[in-house]
Amino acid sequence: MKDRRNTLQKELTYEAVQAFCGHPSADDIYRIIASKHSTISKATVYRNLASLYEEGRIGKVTSVGSGEAHYDHRAERHVHGYCRKCGRVVDVDVSYNSSPLIEAHAMEDGFELTSHELIFEGICRECRDKEKKNGTERIKN
Ligand SMILES: [Zn+2]
Ligand SMILES: [Zn+2]
Repeated sequence: MKDRRNTLQKELTYEAVQAFCGHPSADDIYRIIASKHSTISKATVYRNLASLYEEGRIGKVTSVGSGEAHYDHRAERHVHGYCRKCGRVVDVDVSYNSSPLIEAHAMEDGFELTSHELIFEGICRECRDKEKKNGTERIKN
């Protein structure tokens, strides 16, 4: 019985990540689930997120901004952009290349690469639009 409830809560967590369609923090996901299922605990949601990531069903971005983990509905490897203004994590549409050259160089130094994460820093579309709008308003005044 407990197993069934665990599976159910895990699927709930998975669906919340899929529905978010972005890069939510664990707290974002907890708040979404808790708004409909008030009995679920924060620890359960965090545990389920970690386990979904372990199983390769969702992705995770860790090395941005405050270092808070952002989860990802896309599980396959892809490149991320981090907005310096609002802290949003977005997908950047450039092809992902595991670069055998980098791996070869690391190996020469006796370092076996197990994974790496490529993140671009910049300003997201929403922040740029906002800036543009503010700019034209200033000219008008
Ligand atoms: Zn932004
Ligand atoms: Zn992503």
